[in-house]
Amino acid sequence: MNKTTLLDCNQILDIFSSSNIATAIYTTNDLIIEAVTDAMLNFWGKDRSITGLPLIVAVPELSGQGFIEQLQSALHTGIAVTGIGVPAETLIDHKLQVRYYDYEYKPLKNAGGEIYSLIHTATDVTHRILGNEAIEKEKKQRRMLENERVLNEELAVANEELSAINEELQQTQEKLHELNLELEDRVTERTCKLAESEANMRYMIDDAPVAIAVLKGTEFIIEQANQYMLHIWGKQDKIIGQSVFSALPEIQGQGFFELLQQVYAGGEAYTGREAPGIMEYDGEMRRIFTDFVFKPLKDDKGQTHSIMIVATEVTEQVQARQLVEAGKHRLEAMVNNTPVAMTILKGRDLIIETANQPMLDVWRRERKEVINRGLLDVFPELKDQPNPARMLGVFESGRRFALPETAVSLVMPDGSIKTHYANFSYDPLFDTEGKVESILITVIDITENVKNRKELEDSQADLQETTEELAASNEELTAINEEIQASNEELMATQDQLQDTVHQLKESEERFRFLLNAIPQQVWTATPDGALDYVNDVVCADFGYNTSQIVGHGWQKFIHQDDLPLALERWVAALQSGKEYVVEFRLLFGNGIYKWHLARAIPLVENGEITLWLGTNTDIDLQKNNEHKKDEFLSIASHELKTPLTSIKAFNQLMRRTKDAERITGFMDKSAEHIRRLEKLIGDLLDVTRLNAGKLDYNMKPFRFKQLLEDSVESVQHMSPTHRIILEQSVDTELTGDQFRLEQVMTNFLTNAIKYSPLGQKVIVRSKADEHHITVSVQDFGIGIDKEHVDRLFDRYYRVDNTAMRFEGLGLGLFISSEILKRHQGKFWIESEPGQGSTFFFSIPIVPEKPARPEGIALDLNREDVMASE
Ligand code: ADP
Repeated sequence: MNKTTLLDCNQILDIFSSSNIATAIYTTNDLIIEAVTDAMLNFWGKDRSITGLPLIVAVPELSGQGFIEQLQSALHTGIAVTGIGVPAETLIDHKLQVRYYDYEYKPLKNAGGEIYSLIHTATDVTHRILGNEAIEKEKKQRRMLENERVLNEELAVANEELSAINEELQQTQEKLHELNLELEDRVTERTCKLAESEANMRYMIDDAPVAIAVLKGTEFIIEQANQYMLHIWGKQDKIIGQSVFSALPEIQGQGFFELLQQVYAGGEAYTGREAPGIMEYDGEMRRIFTDFVFKPLKDDKGQTHSIMIVATEVTEQVQARQLVEAGKHRLEAMVNNTPVAMTILKGRDLIIETANQPMLDVWRRERKEVINRGLLDVFPELKDQPNPARMLGVFESGRRFALPETAVSLVMPDGSIKTHYANFSYDPLFDTEGKVESILITVIDITENVKNRKELEDSQADLQETTEELAASNEELTAINEEIQASNEELMATQDQLQDTVHQLKESEERFRFLLNAIPQQVWTATPDGALDYVNDVVCADFGYNTSQIVGHGWQKFIHQDDLPLALERWVAALQSGKEYVVEFRLLFGNGIYKWHLARAIPLVENGEITLWLGTNTDIDLQKNNEHKKDEFLSIASHELKTPLTSIKAFNQLMRRTKDAERITGFMDKSAEHIRRLEKLIGDLLDVTRLNAGKLDYNMKPFRFKQLLEDSVESVQHMSPTHRIILEQSVDTELTGDQFRLEQVMTNFLTNAIKYSPLGQKVIVRSKADEHHITVSVQDFGIGIDKEHVDRLFDRYYRVDNTAMRFEGLGLGLFISSEILKRHQGKFWIESEPGQGSTFFFSIPIVPEKPARPEGIALDLNREDVMASE
């Protein structure tokens, strides 16, 4: 805009606003008040600060009175709207007041007939209207008073007065009309001036921060194109002056030329959003996206002479968005097709964006009940559980988080509480700016496995309850074995499913790898000829090598030597037959430990040919160990129980056959000895059962320790004439504890000392006391114990391998002793030299403190904390 025009404009505004005719000028869009006179402000009860606001915002109380609608209709039709004596309610002096107005809404048009403004003039005719109403009233009265024929002179005067006012009003309206015409002329003049300043436009185009070009005539000669436009076109400014058809031949057939012709002929602007186009850049074709406007430029007569193109390149935004959308779409498809429960939670409010059917099954909810709701809104009970905090942690750190074997309790729709054990993993999903936008949650429900494990432990405890129940428990164990097998089969079925799904997803390599890595067990693939070519992150973490190192080594390096031949044989058979590969073997972990695994692999067949082998290795170490321990124990226990029974039976038969009283007494003594052995075995088994159930009773009271030593030595000596038990040192201290149970410990130490020194002749017992403790030792001169076993002798069922063959026993005595000593806050340790003999020590406080461990806690089968040595 040049200076002369500005001044003209201000002058117009000054003249205008001080005019005492109520007038306002509005823009065509949103009816923004461009200019308003004081008189109009007065009608509205507003001040000048409302200039520049939309009418509806400036004078809100006008809404609902029909004026805005009339203004809009004047704008649409181009025809002026007038009102005579119309009431309007406005806020004057903070009070809503009704006044009456004559008014006109007149659209202003330029030479091309386009409406560019709306002018509103108004006159307050409240006096007239109220006067007219008064006249009507008077007239009524007059009619009523007709019979009296009294004419009210005052009425006539009023009438005269009113018509005077009316005349005055008419004059004012005429004046207003003149002013309108004058104003119209001035605005038109200004518009023309602006249109003429073409030179200004050229500068503006060159400096504009968007791409602009002007194409002239029906040949679309490039009259002007700024740097931005040349950049989008990938051309130099030498194309200026050429026809756009010859300057940009590559856009032929992309619809742009047809659009230009349409805009030129129709005279209507055309706007394109994110329009794709293929452009040539230094001989290379590139796909770009633009937002653009083709705007016809017209002369005074409204004839189009040129087209102005305004454009912005939005390729990057469009591609980024497409990429994110495609990624999201793919991820959602993957989640929905996976048999593993998965959900995507968006933002820190953990809004459930997607949840697949397995996830909904875990939740026992319909999709529509959870989608777009916050996780904590659906499951408020999670607030007191650790998982949500971990999820938020992923937003903080941007790193994956795994929660193995974690219990989560959810309230089900019927109000019941369901606790699941599951392996959780939380993977961050990033937006285009690299911020964590949402997290992918994978839930592998292992409730069944945990349950199975617990059941297994429970049934082992049951097994030991009584010897009579041994056979029954055997059956139970078989059942559990079957269960394990069933759950294994279930696991295999799930794996099959997983592998099927993986099969479906194979087309996209990236997606495939993503999924394989999301599975929290070892997954691998091999080429059709059997060469390992991929392992997932779990394998890398287990073995402590990266993928390419493991692929380079192959499985041979990690499979236990003893298991390798079978594994190879099965693998070769599978490769030849194209049938499933199943084998169990031990794998060497990065920490040097072997763990049992179940390996399975199936071929992926595409178009009748094997294209890939997909395999998994499932950790079955715990199950294997448990099965092994249980089998071993069962065979020892039944053997140990059978041996004395067989002898008793034999003596009974001998007794039946002989009449010799002396021999009968001898047989009776012998069979009594075996019955004692049987009793001891059953006693030990019952003690272990009670220990497991936390029901071993203790009767703690003070007694003389010397008595205990002498009693136990005497009773063991009585049964073992082969050895001499020497009580070398004995303290006479009063001690608080369970005398019966401590005697059991002494008896166990003494019988072991005799049992494991078959060639020895003596066993030495010593005891000493200080202010707080009594320490006892039992020394034998027997087979001794290797160092590697010393720390484990107090474990349940633990027996030194080579003694197990030669000496009877269940491996329970020391375990029970250790538990009794622990209840007395005692310590125990061994000093031993293989071939020379062993000394077993224990030390207990004279007055125990409060019980260290509460009653009722069942002991763990795999305990490793039993030994406390000095
Ligand atoms: P059991 O004697 O019934 O097998 P224990 O729990 O009493 O069970 O002993 C566990 C194991 O400890 C025995 O099997 C044996 O190998 C070893 N052991 C115990 N006492 C001695 C000892 N005095 N000398 C050598 N070995 C011993």
